[in-house]
Amino acid sequence: MGEIVLQAYAKINLGLDVLRKREDGYHEVKMIMQRISLADTLVLRKCPGGGILLQGDTETDASGVPMDASNLVYRAIQMLKEEFQLEEGVEAVLSKRIPVAAGMAGGSADAAAALKGMNQLFSLGLSEQELRDRGVKLGADIPYCIMGGTALSEGIGERLTPLPPLPSCHILIAKPPVSVSTAFVYGNLRVDELPEHPDIDGMTEAIRQGSLQGVIDRMGNVLETVTIPAYPEIAVIKSIMLEYGAERSLMSGSGPTVFGIFPDEAKAMQAEQAIRKAGYAEQTYLVQPLL
Ligand code: ATP
Repeated sequence: MGEIVLQAYAKINLGLDVLRKREDGYHEVKMIMQRISLADTLVLRKCPGGGILLQGDTETDASGVPMDASNLVYRAIQMLKEEFQLEEGVEAVLSKRIPVAAGMAGGSADAAAALKGMNQLFSLGLSEQELRDRGVKLGADIPYCIMGGTALSEGIGERLTPLPPLPSCHILIAKPPVSVSTAFVYGNLRVDELPEHPDIDGMTEAIRQGSLQGVIDRMGNVLETVTIPAYPEIAVIKSIMLEYGAERSLMSGSGPTVFGIFPDEAKAMQAEQAIRKAGYAEQTYLVQPLL
């Protein structure tokens, strides 16, 4: 087999709730995950020498992402190489488009693509569930990134329930130029003092009924209570989106990425221009929900 080309799609959280901090330090979450049409590309091929050679491509900017053994792509390849005692080398080229440390699971998406790609390249015969079981050892969002689509994610992210696709809509993404560490956000979250919790069960039901309005009415993310005070520009971007006609705007994951759901593309484009012009974000994308 020659080379394998994979798209590693980003996600947003339509809803994110944290239920409690477990004794082992992990947080128990309840989230609605949605795949979007913004992706990194990963190319995998076998190569002589037995090692793992990972590099960024020359066209996309992978600054801020270490292309060494700490990269999740490298770790995913290494994990399967060791388990299956694969002697051939693997060359991987990663084109980064998903903003880094942004709350869009870019690294997890890349790792999910690497696991799927290795399964194909070496005909390992692993089922999707077997890939998910391996993925969760590298990161809590990786099982979801393997599955994709719209899903309810529970536990630490390993308990997944697939949901019907979100009705089509226009989503504007804006990532302000700050990097947010997921560990910082969870570390500063006061789970017992949260003023409110989003209605994730109601959102799940709305998705099952195909009601976009039911989803919009229930959008919420408890991590905003930590990230917005640290980076108030997130709140400003949210309000610009509303001012320009978004039905609702929200921070994704631990932030700082903000997304807005728009009734039409023209309004989303106007909001995008306003955010860029005011200097709040250069990384902006107009995307759709994906299966
Ligand atoms: P999440 O939404 O899962 O919290 P995130 O979008 O906030 O993820 P990532 O973009 O996945 O964060 O990256 C977090 C850190 O992981 C980066 O600062 C980077 O050093 C490291 N990392 C390792 N591998 C990758 C990768 N392939 N792509 C991006 N970052 C990676």
